[in-house]
Amino acid sequence: MKSGKKQGRIFLSPPHMGDLEQKYIAEAFASNWIAPLGPHVESFQREFAATVGVSHALATISGTAALHLALQLVGVGHGDDVFVSTLTFAASVNPVRYLGATPVLVDSERESWNIDPHLVAQALQDRAKTGKLPKAVVVVHLYGQSADMDPILEACRQYQVPLIEDAAEALGATYKGRPVGTLGRAGIFSFNGNKIITTSGGGMLVSEDRRLVTHAFKLATQARDPAPYYEHSQVGYNYRMSNVLAGIGRGQLRVLSERVAARRRNFEFYASAFRDVPGIEFMPEAPWGSHTRWLTTAVITPTEFGIDRDELRQRLDAANIEARPVWKPMHLQPIYRECTALGGSVAEDLFRRGLCLPSGSNMTADDLERVVTVVREAARQPVLSRAVS
Ligand SMILES: *Cc1c(COP(=O)(O)O)cnc(C)c1O
Repeated sequence: MKSGKKQGRIFLSPPHMGDLEQKYIAEAFASNWIAPLGPHVESFQREFAATVGVSHALATISGTAALHLALQLVGVGHGDDVFVSTLTFAASVNPVRYLGATPVLVDSERESWNIDPHLVAQALQDRAKTGKLPKAVVVVHLYGQSADMDPILEACRQYQVPLIEDAAEALGATYKGRPVGTLGRAGIFSFNGNKIITTSGGGMLVSEDRRLVTHAFKLATQARDPAPYYEHSQVGYNYRMSNVLAGIGRGQLRVLSERVAARRRNFEFYASAFRDVPGIEFMPEAPWGSHTRWLTTAVITPTEFGIDRDELRQRLDAANIEARPVWKPMHLQPIYRECTALGGSVAEDLFRRGLCLPSGSNMTADDLERVVTVVREAARQPVLSRAVS
């Protein structure tokens, strides 16, 4: 096995284009709509809104930009506190800082790895008594799975704290039959290169609140006031998606359900291949929703598995397979270490033992077999069915 030529690298979550993206890009070129605000942008927004079942959508240059706008538009500003999941990518938290506000980092629960609703409800109750309620709660739907939204929405309603959903990783996931990103005051999505669909870079802000999205549009286009000359009464940003990239997005949106199905098939392949391997436990699928399995993630218990997460990751890397540790919690990050954390031990454990396996929707059966073989060998398990027939 070691003697043959080196096999191609298997990436964690590479882009996967469909058949229509290039046609839409060609249209943009043919009509010279290379600037932002072209017809693909409007179509992409409309088609995206219809796909997730929401009234208003604004395409942005990134998911981070969309979250920045959402936070500002629910009123987050200097000196405010914002509750955010601690087990996430830094992009969920950085925009809180852009606005001069302070993140309060909330631990995960085991059932979905997402923000713990009990910690949120308890903290809101405590803070209501001292008059120090947060200005917003940001719920992250991790790795393609919805957080347990009802108790969080209920607590937010009770204390009138706006809830923003960071659904960057969870396009296509549902909570009790409803698409994630549409349950709070505003939701954001990402089309970064590694997400379930991609525009090479981009994001979307969605809301039922027309005024919020209209205002977001204005802020995203340098906050121009309606006047024949350039008039500005507010500081704005340049956050709009280009018409070319929106063309890619329209093509990608058409294949979204196929991409979700392919990612779920990857997960099922791994789950059945490792059923008899001790010490490897997949992220659970909570009963309240449908998990897209954007990434297949698992925790490794070294005493049962044989080696630890880091060593397994290195073995995969040596076989030219990319795997990544689960997000390092924000309360452990040098930039956020000083922030208040509500709990944190669950997220710490998931970080210490958690690994994301290659999960691209364009993985072949051979790719999956390669990953399985390395993991099973690492676990000192016989390779399945190699000897048979
Ligand atoms: C990818 C991601 C973002 C940011 O999206 P960009 O489009 O890369 O700016 C935000 N939150 C989470 C949880 C993400 O995974």
